[in-house]
Amino acid sequence: MPICPKCGGDLKHYDSVRRIVRTKARRTTRVKLRRLRCVGCGTFHRALPDTLFPHKQYEAEVIRGVLEGLITYETIGFEDYTCEMTMARWKAQKEQLLLWR
Ligand SMILES: [Zn+2]
Repeated sequence: MPICPKCGGDLKHYDSVRRIVRTKARRTTRVKLRRLRCVGCGTFHRALPDTLFPHKQYEAEVIRGVLEGLITYETIGFEDYTCEMTMARWKAQKEQLLLWR
């Protein structure tokens, strides 16, 4: 049973939400995320599957590939400056992203 990061209370299943995630080759996929509610303080938390990082639109496999240098903006079909900036931001957050796992 997961516990609340705020108060240490038990988290109970509340409902599920769908989220759109970007994958390689410009495809998108829908994933189901479970929402959990703390019985102690009542805050909501999302249970993230292994394939996702928090607050990122792209799936974890893509982000990890970029961090490890296996994926470049050409591989992924990124061809504009915005996407290069996105990847640069991931690299800047590398420590934080890898710690999450
Ligand atoms: Zn709580």
